[in-house]
Parts: sequence; structure tokens; C-alpha cells
Amino acid sequence: MNGLPRELRGFFVTGTDTDAGKTFVCARLARLLGGLAGGRLSYVKPVQTGCTRRQDVGTAGGWSAPDVDAVALQWPRARALACFEPPCSPHLAASLAGTALSCRELAKACADAVPEGDMALVEGAGGCWVPLNARETMLDLMLCLRLPVVLVAANRLGCLNHAMLSVEALQARGIEVAGIVLNRTCPPAQCDAGCGAGAGPADELRILQDNEASLEAFAAEAGVPLLASLPWQEDPLAPLPQLEAVAGTLFDRFRRQGAPRGAMPSWSVPAAGESPESAAEILAFDRAHLWHPYTSALNPLPVRQAVSARANRIVLADGTELVDGMSSWWCAVHGYGSPALKAAMSRQIHAMSHVMFGGLTHRPAAALARRLLDLAPAGLEHVFFADSGSVAVEVALKMAVQYQIATGRASRRRFLTPLGGYHGDTQGAMSVCDPVNGMHTLFAGLLPKHYFMERPSARFDQPFDPASLSEAARILEARQDEIACVVLEPIVQGAGGMWFYHPRYLEGLAGLCRQYGILLVLDEIATGFGRTGRLFASEWAGVAPDIMCVGKALTGGMMTGGAVLASGAVAQGIEQAGPAEGGGVLMHGPTFMGNPLFCAAACQSIDLLLASPWQERVRNIEGWLREGLEPCRRHPAAADVRVLGAIGVVEAKRPVDMARLQDYFVSRGVWIRPFNRNVYLMPPFVSPEEDVALLCDAIRGAFDAGLC
Ligand code: PMP
Repeated sequence: MNGLPRELRGFFVTGTDTDAGKTFVCARLARLLGGLAGGRLSYVKPVQTGCTRRQDVGTAGGWSAPDVDAVALQWPRARALACFEPPCSPHLAASLAGTALSCRELAKACADAVPEGDMALVEGAGGCWVPLNARETMLDLMLCLRLPVVLVAANRLGCLNHAMLSVEALQARGIEVAGIVLNRTCPPAQCDAGCGAGAGPADELRILQDNEASLEAFAAEAGVPLLASLPWQEDPLAPLPQLEAVAGTLFDRFRRQGAPRGAMPSWSVPAAGESPESAAEILAFDRAHLWHPYTSALNPLPVRQAVSARANRIVLADGTELVDGMSSWWCAVHGYGSPALKAAMSRQIHAMSHVMFGGLTHRPAAALARRLLDLAPAGLEHVFFADSGSVAVEVALKMAVQYQIATGRASRRRFLTPLGGYHGDTQGAMSVCDPVNGMHTLFAGLLPKHYFMERPSARFDQPFDPASLSEAARILEARQDEIACVVLEPIVQGAGGMWFYHPRYLEGLAGLCRQYGILLVLDEIATGFGRTGRLFASEWAGVAPDIMCVGKALTGGMMTGGAVLASGAVAQGIEQAGPAEGGGVLMHGPTFMGNPLFCAAACQSIDLLLASPWQERVRNIEGWLREGLEPCRRHPAAADVRVLGAIGVVEAKRPVDMARLQDYFVSRGVWIRPFNRNVYLMPPFVSPEEDVALLCDAIRGAFDAGLC
């Protein structure tokens, strides 16, 4: 969806409410700013209700639009775009006229209405939350236009409340508030400032002055200046020196905005605080200075600039919308921008975004630990919060070693793990990743040497062969004095090869661990929270680990974070250590451990998941993936097709050219990032059937086009 409108420069004027005096302020500002801009100013009213039809084509092409007519008295370059007769909210007026407004179209019309090089003064309708249609409000239009906003606040009873709520709503969306103009909306005789019956002008003045002082102080806290406080003004044409100063300030600001940078960044919600540089500049800077995953610093694989993401769509800087097939590496199970997740995090930010976890605790941490222990397999009783998946694995491995030392088996300091595993990129985690994928030769001497056994050969979807466990049994028997734990991903080996193995393998391995008193560490970082069709993949085998790691979808993809869950026996074991053996304490404590914002996001994500029909959604996606990917099996370039839960993999016979394939996928409107020989999907659980079909079509298309 390209073809974005041209970017505008200037200001958007909104009100705290209807009748706050926006038009009054706009008319005067248009004249003053227009003068400063040497006549190069266009006033635009995107939507005007309460219009009347007229024969002589005027400011609104066949309509008389009251606000525009008022502005036109002071500044002739004034236009209304969408005009409606009923004097009501835009969404209602449009629907009464048998039409519907679209934020995107209005933004485009605004861009078309302002000649290139002109300063734009765009006046909203009513306040921030005035609806344009069933989904979009004036706030969305402001987001599209990305003009700094001047807020006109009516100086009357409720002024502070309305003004600060508006500032909060604007800032919460990353919209810049250039300042507030406080405006007295009725003459002194008509006291509406809340001074009560029998009060005189002096009482009213006291309240109005207090509104001004209080608003100035509160707005300053939010970083917003009170630009002016206007007295009641009978004559709309009389000069108002206060507004001359405002126009001067705004014009200075306008000059600092710089030249327009081409197209409007995107109609969708821009990221708060995004740099104003153009997409090309960002990409150039990125290429020169940013290191991306698994690529060169000097000659990197190409990247694209994402500007926003909603539900199962990612929006690029040029307006292209991509159907997401990756859930941002297993994380975004609810899709992007879930209002519930944003609200939970916003609440937590306002209360306390971070405090150290040493010596302090808080409700979000306790609430998250309680949820995790309630949901996890039986026997897990203690929770250690980590700052990422890899760190969770590091902690789990240290925990296992400390347990063995403390319980008198200090020689057990190595780990056993299957080939084809992936556990993260920090050194401890990397040492138990597949030695080839994890480049163990490159890091020889740095990484400790552990024991590897063959990849679980029994496929998930075929009869179980007990012989697949024989190597594990042999190594555990022979090396039981050396091995602290067996560590693996349950059922699905993810980044190491997207391989799905039989639950009986895991069951058998857990039995062997028990037999030798060796701990079982399950890495549920990728599989946890429903991805395989069970809340945790270990449930397929009915296995309860001694230690379990979670991460990724734990926060619904809102932020990083992980957790390590340990059994009572593990905690009690570590406790037995003498002073020389660690003294019973777990030797780990990252700075951001238990971060309240992470905990709040994770609690909300878990609640959201459990309240959703996630099993049905995952089952549906599984069916759609099977249907869509199964035809690839017949393709000569495909080695295998595997589907489990909301994961679908087509394994090619040869490694794929990732950059070329990704160009192709983007041209098909999907976001899929293959690696090595695997072209795979793990879409957000909220993905509708047609989008999953689109993802599968694109993969089939890539095989047919000879790209795999
Ligand atoms: N374990 C598994 C199974 C993973 O898939 C990953 C991430 N791909 C990790 C651990 C590491 O997590 P993180 O990238 O958050 O450190």
C-alpha cells in the first residue's frame, strides 16, 4: 500500500472540547502566521459539520462551512474538505449522508489542499476523541498528519481536567504538543467559571486566574508551554496582542521544523520519539553503524525500516504493510499493539517502571511468579527472573551445577544435550547449542566442552522408536559422575533446525535423568505459551522438569524478559551448600531482574492468552498451515514439510539465499525470514485464515519461482 501523501509542515489545532474557541484562535493565527510566512499559509478544515448548501461556490465548494467562513474573513486561503449538513459528530454526519470518512483519505486530501511550500494550519473538529468512523478518531488524523498540535482550552469550569486529559491523550500517542492557548469563551456577565450563585465578577476572575496558574504549572510538568491566556473578545476582528506573541513563537518553531522530507511517514501510528530523519537517512546511518543479528558490520544483509505494527501487520516506512509470519521470533502471540498490553504497561510506568530487586519486591513480581507457578508443570515452586531467554538459560545451568555441588556431587559440572538444539547466544547457552550451528570450532578454547547426543530421531508424527534413546542412556550411564543436567527444548527444536520430535523421547529421557539423579532442564523459551498447541510443550509428554526456562512470548513480545522456574528439591539442594560451596545462595542477580514493567506486561499477556480461545486459534492455524504448506512436499526442491501447532516449516534441500527470498516475500506483502534450509512460519495467534493462506501462498510461490 504505497503512495503516501506528501508531508505537511505547520500546525494542527485541536480543542479540549467543542466550543473551546478553536476557530476564533485559528482565524487570528491564520492572519498573523500568514503574514509572517509572506502569504504562504493555507488553512484547512478536514471535516466540517453543520454546513449549508449554497449556489455560489465558496470556501467549501458548494457549501457554506461556518468555521471556514469565519476564518476566510481574516485569511482568504481557507478551505473545508468534507462537508456535512447535520451539526453533529463527523462519524455520525458522514453515516447520515450515506458515506464513511477515512483517516487516510482525509490526510491525503489535506496534503493535496496545501500547495507545496505553504505552511499548513489544520483545524480539527471538536476534541481529541471525536470519532471519524467506527475505528478512527481525530487523534488518528493527528497521527497521520504528524503536525505539532496547538491545544485550545476553554477557560471555564473543568478547564484543567479537560486540558490535561487532552495533553495526556496526545502525548500517550507520541503526538507533539506545541502548546496550549487558554481561551475565555463567554463574557464576564455570563459566569460559567463555577463561582456559584450570587458571585460577582471578582469571584469569577479569581477562578479564571487560578485556572491559568494551575494549568501553566501542570502543563509545564508535562513539558507543554501555556502559550497565552486570552480574555473574552466580543469582536472577532479586534487585535489580540497575546496571539501576536503566540504566532511569533509558533513561526520560530515552524522555521526550525526544516524542509518537508517527502512523503508523510506512514498513515499508521508512528513510534514515539522516532527520529525525524527520512527513511533513506535512517537506512544509511544503520548501514554505516548498526550491527544486526548474524550479519557483517561493514557489508551487512539489507534491512527495512519498520515504523509501526498492529495486530498481525508490520508497516514499513514507505507505507508497505506486511502480513507477519514470524511473531518477531516467537514473541508476538497476540499480534502487535494489543490495547490491553499497552494499558497495563502504561499503568505500571506511571506507578514505577523500575526498582532494583535486591532488597525490594513488588506486586507485579509476585503476581507474575504466582501465575507462572500456577500454570507450569507440577513441582516447580521457585521463580528467578532473568532479563532475556539466554540469561534464563545461563541461570538454569548455574542452578544445576550449584545443586550438584551443594548435594555432594561436585564432579558434576558438565551438561548433556542433543545435537540440533538452540538455547541462546551468551557463552554458557552457546556451549549447549548445536556445535555446528553454534560455531563451536570458532570459539574453541572459550566454550566449555559438553556432551552431545544425536538429534531426537523419532519424529513427532511417526511411531516412536525406543532405539532413539539408546545413545542418551549410554552417555548418562557412562558419564553420570560428570553430568549435572540434561538440557533441551521440549518437542520442538527451534532455531537449531525446526525439528519436531516424539513426546515419548522426552518421557524416556526424563526417566533416565531420574534414574541417575541428573537434573532435567527444559528450555520452553520458544515453545512456551501455547505455540505447539499445549501451554507448555512438555505437556505433550506429561513431563515435569526440575528446571524450566521461559521467555519470548512471556511478555507477548512487548519487551525482553525471561524466568527460570525450579523445583522445591532444586532450591532445597542449593540451600545445603556450605560456606565454601556458595553458602546456599544462587550466584546471580542482573540489574534489571524482576523489572516491574516486564512483570506487568507478562502478567497481562498471560491473562490475555488465557482469556482468549488460544487452543482453538492454534488448532485453526495448524489446519491452515497444513493445507497451505503440504503441497510443497511434492516440490523437487523441498526435503520435508512439518507442521505442529502454530508452527509450519518447509525444509529445502539446499540452504536458501535469505536476502533474495526476503525481497520476494516483501514483494508478496508478507514478512517471512528463512534461515539455512528452513522456510518457516509461526504467525501471531490472532492471524485470520486469509492471512495465513497468504503466507503459505508466498512460500509455495517461492518454491515455484525457483528461489528455494
Ligand atoms: N532458547 C530458545 C529455545 C530460543 O529459541 C531462544 C531464542 N531464539 C533462546 C533460548 C534465547 O533467547 P533470547 O534471544 O531472548 O536470549
